[in-house]
Amino acid sequence: MSHTHSDYSLLAVKKHRPAMNGAAVTPPMDIEKIFGENVFDLEEMKSRLPKDAYNSIRATIRQGRLLDPKIADTVAMAMKEWAVERGATHYTHWFQPLTGNTAEKHDSFITPNRGGGAIAQFSGKELIQGEPDASSFPSGGLRATFEARGYTAWDPTSPAFIIENDNGSYLAIPTAFASWSGEALDHKTPLLRSMNAIHEQASRALALFGVEEAQVVSTVGCEQEYFLIDEEFFYRRPDLMATGRTLLGTKPPRGQELDDHYFGSIPDRVLACMLETEKELYRLGIPVKTRHNEVAPSQYEIAPIFENTNVAADHQQLMMITLQRVARKYGLVCLLHEKPFRGVNGSGKHNNWSLATESGMNLLEPGDNPHDNLQFLFFCTAVIKAAWRHQDLLRISVASAANDHRLGANEAPPAIISVFLGDQLEDVFEQIETGDATSSKQAGLLGLGAPVLPDLSRHAGDRNRTSPFAFTGNKFEFRAPGSSQTISFVNTVLNTIVAESVDEMSTELEALLADGKSLERAVGEVVRGAIKESRNVIFGGDNYSEKWHAEAERRGLLNLKTTVDALERLLDAKNIAIFEKYNVLSESELRSREEVWVEQYFLRINIEGELTETLARTYVMPAATRYLRSLLDTIKDSDVTGISSKGVRTVAEHVATYIDELQEALRELIDQNKNLGGNTVHEKARHMVDNIIPAMDAVRHAADRLERTVDHDLWRLPTYRDMLFVK
Ligand code: ADP
Ligand code: MG
Repeated sequence: MSHTHSDYSLLAVKKHRPAMNGAAVTPPMDIEKIFGENVFDLEEMKSRLPKDAYNSIRATIRQGRLLDPKIADTVAMAMKEWAVERGATHYTHWFQPLTGNTAEKHDSFITPNRGGGAIAQFSGKELIQGEPDASSFPSGGLRATFEARGYTAWDPTSPAFIIENDNGSYLAIPTAFASWSGEALDHKTPLLRSMNAIHEQASRALALFGVEEAQVVSTVGCEQEYFLIDEEFFYRRPDLMATGRTLLGTKPPRGQELDDHYFGSIPDRVLACMLETEKELYRLGIPVKTRHNEVAPSQYEIAPIFENTNVAADHQQLMMITLQRVARKYGLVCLLHEKPFRGVNGSGKHNNWSLATESGMNLLEPGDNPHDNLQFLFFCTAVIKAAWRHQDLLRISVASAANDHRLGANEAPPAIISVFLGDQLEDVFEQIETGDATSSKQAGLLGLGAPVLPDLSRHAGDRNRTSPFAFTGNKFEFRAPGSSQTISFVNTVLNTIVAESVDEMSTELEALLADGKSLERAVGEVVRGAIKESRNVIFGGDNYSEKWHAEAERRGLLNLKTTVDALERLLDAKNIAIFEKYNVLSESELRSREEVWVEQYFLRINIEGELTETLARTYVMPAATRYLRSLLDTIKDSDVTGISSKGVRTVAEHVATYIDELQEALRELIDQNKNLGGNTVHEKARHMVDNIIPAMDAVRHAADRLERTVDHDLWRLPTYRDMLFVK
């Protein structure tokens, strides 16, 4: 049976109408009431734990104090009681292996006895430590095969939560995941270590500014982009199912160029899906704030309010899981891939990052007069210096096969890392470079010209959408991360590289103060030195332009175009040194990551290469030859009927030429797929970049040409037009 565009639309609409018009209108959700109801948070602990146990765990969570193992049994009992009251029968240690996803293995709270009774199996020991069989998680050579065990360790700083299903619920306990020798096999461990590094250095610096004994954390709020498409289409696209993106497919006749979707009103079914997703997120204590349409048709964005980075990273994973789960209930599939559709805007995840003290002071808040705000200037400069020194690490932290499609494609920042400051700050730093800063440009009010409309205060740190790393008022927004990636390593890098520059600048500052310089003079000098060193990374212009690429090269900025180019730098001596120095990753832990990521890159493209071959052989070629057959039949019949076949002949000739082109490209891809380019993962990954991707592109070019020509009834893959415009 063949499906045409209208069949699909009909299917989609019919199937979902009943779900949309339920009998009763659901009452509006009471966010305050449901917020965090599925989370075992401090409030819940306060009401359930003895006072000393509560104070002890609170100190661990709020001040990063060492966990007192003596309270584990008490906490476990309370946690279990709470979870069971909420219908949970099982618990799991929830962790983030290097696959970039989350992993869990469920155990029952109660194990039935032979004799008919049951024993409870959740005490402090089960809360604190787990031993999942780790042999199928990537370790990059860290774990010898004879020692398959891995250990999970409770992270009390990220609250446990309940995952619900129609048929039951379970308690998920955020944990770190390590090998028997204590080496991190996950994303959480280094992130927590980097939180400690930034705390140590930033609180040391704050003391110089007279702020004593502050607990400093980094904070993150992420803007998540995603697509929602009808699942009917998803199931008919083996490429979407296997790789998350379309390996073939031609741009829709009406694409984003009409700009009618961005911030447009949200279609009903999608809005229903979003509302339920948000409700679930609220119940998990995730503070979702904004939603809107994105640039491309069927593309959307969701953003929470910022939180401590460790919690934000767990919440980010939960958000992606929830988006995908809830979408299914509405007959939709949530695509988190960075580039599901070629020629259509891709999806990113802006990582807004700042530093704050426990009491909520934002260290990157400039106030009205940044030139006068020594503490702000110090920390802001430290971030700029970190970005300059470690452009490679920032680029590596967002490297993936999928994100390579976005970076530098004029929809996302280029692979070149630079820092945008805005007019006001750029001016302040220029003043500092040449002497003392004496003024801050004021942006003032934005009059709208109609007396009934209020004057808006224009933010002095104006926006530049093309910058990969932009100061946006009171935080830095890293815009290069991809939509599907975990934010853990991104923020591990940010925390670590900023810890290093704060460390170095504090040492300089301490020396100047010891020499008897005033704080103002000393900070001026330190900041001046750091800005002079890093000024090449500051750029306020259009990051998409050719001119910038040439200029960046003159400035000596890196342009690591592919994941493989980027990962080649990960093990540079300076990178091993910085992660070791701040106890974030040992050399062997870093090496294992490099190995895992190179392998992941290879595997991803390898699958894409083989699937492109299969689709071209079994979908495209048969459709094209069938079409050609029917054209040839028509031509043959024209001998009998005497009707002119001139036009048909021309079409047939074109189709035949495109088939030749496809066959030639396909033969090359088949050859390249057979040969993996070598034995090491590094050789294989290189082969993917140099040979497989170009061969896939050539096949796609030919296949897409045929898609535009062949009878739509014969084309079994849903087209972009089918997928992107059904709502
Ligand atoms: P935009 O104007 O780009 O939409 P918003 O101010 O709405 O920016 O913030 C976007 C994201 O940045 C949100 O997730 C928000 O919570 C987060 N954010 C705001 N302040 C901070 C901060 N101090 N630290 C980390 N993230 C922050
Ligand atoms: Mg943004």
